[in-house]
Amino acid sequence: MRRDGGQCTAHHSDGTRCPEPGTDVDHVIPASLGGSDDMGNLALLCSWHHQRKSSSEGGRASSLTRVSVHRPRVSHPALDD
Ligand SMILES: [Zn+2]
Repeated sequence: MRRDGGQCTAHHSDGTRCPEPGTDVDHVIPASLGGSDDMGNLALLCSWHHQRKSSSEGGRASSLTRVSVHRPRVSHPALDD
């Protein structure tokens, strides 16, 4: 956080840096993809950018690890004789 000046390190599409205060430490390369806890792999993000990044990573990860969940079929008490 000290290195990044307490400010979100994300950049907008026009090249300007996000002016929001950095509140979340993000792994540039997600730990799930072999990213380290090295300072070079950590970046300070505001919660909005972190959430946006995390949700896109989460979506990709869950599509890779998706398992079908079979719920046991429970009969409704009202249908029991
Ligand atoms: Zn931001």
